[in-house]
Amino acid sequence: MQFDIHTHTIASGHGTSCTITDMAKAAKSKGLSLIGITDHGPATFAAGTPSYFRSLLMAPHLRCGVQLLYGIELNILDDEGHVDLEDDILSRLDYAIASMHIQNHAPGTQEENTKAYQNAMKHPKVKVIGHCDDVKYPVDYESLVLSAKENHVLLELNESSLSPSGYRGDTRQNNASMLYWCQKSSQPIILSSDSHGPEGVGDFTRCLEFVKEQNFPRELILNYRLNDLLSYLK
Ligand SMILES: [Zn+2]
Ligand SMILES: [Zn+2]
Repeated sequence: MQFDIHTHTIASGHGTSCTITDMAKAAKSKGLSLIGITDHGPATFAAGTPSYFRSLLMAPHLRCGVQLLYGIELNILDDEGHVDLEDDILSRLDYAIASMHIQNHAPGTQEENTKAYQNAMKHPKVKVIGHCDDVKYPVDYESLVLSAKENHVLLELNESSLSPSGYRGDTRQNNASMLYWCQKSSQPIILSSDSHGPEGVGDFTRCLEFVKEQNFPRELILNYRLNDLLSYLK
């Protein structure tokens, strides 16, 4: 595995003190060739401000021999799929992950949650839906996967969601359902660490065990195919 496109730094305000350079160094030491820095959007308490995201537009795309992409993990704010960064800056970042977090979006019915994700996917910069396995936000995976395919958006299998101590509940059943429909529709997925510090960068231990258990085909895992991954992020 050479890529990890969902990682966080000190700018996410979760008590981690690591910088972008710390993440690049960690990625280098683990043999990764590319990472994406995707700090939380401005609606998350103490997270990245619009001016932080604007500053990324001038940041170097190569550090410590590792290629860097600069994105954001947006908060989906409502069922219409509105997100928390203005288009002027968002349109110039490399890509965006859109996720639901309890501080910024109260869980709705299965239909409402699915609609919220589907509407967020329509934003041209949203390329990945983050951790849509959270048990607090039930979704219709068949419908979600079809929309992802239609909008050329990726769904992620999130390492931190599969941790037994994870705060998204027991996500295994949701992830199994997501993988089932992805396989049925030949829709690729991306494995993400969602690491909030250097230790977890590029660690997909649980994801790899899970895809194996589910017999999910390797050719649908974009972490093995850089060019195809980049074409999704464009
Ligand atoms: Zn998140
Ligand atoms: Zn995250």
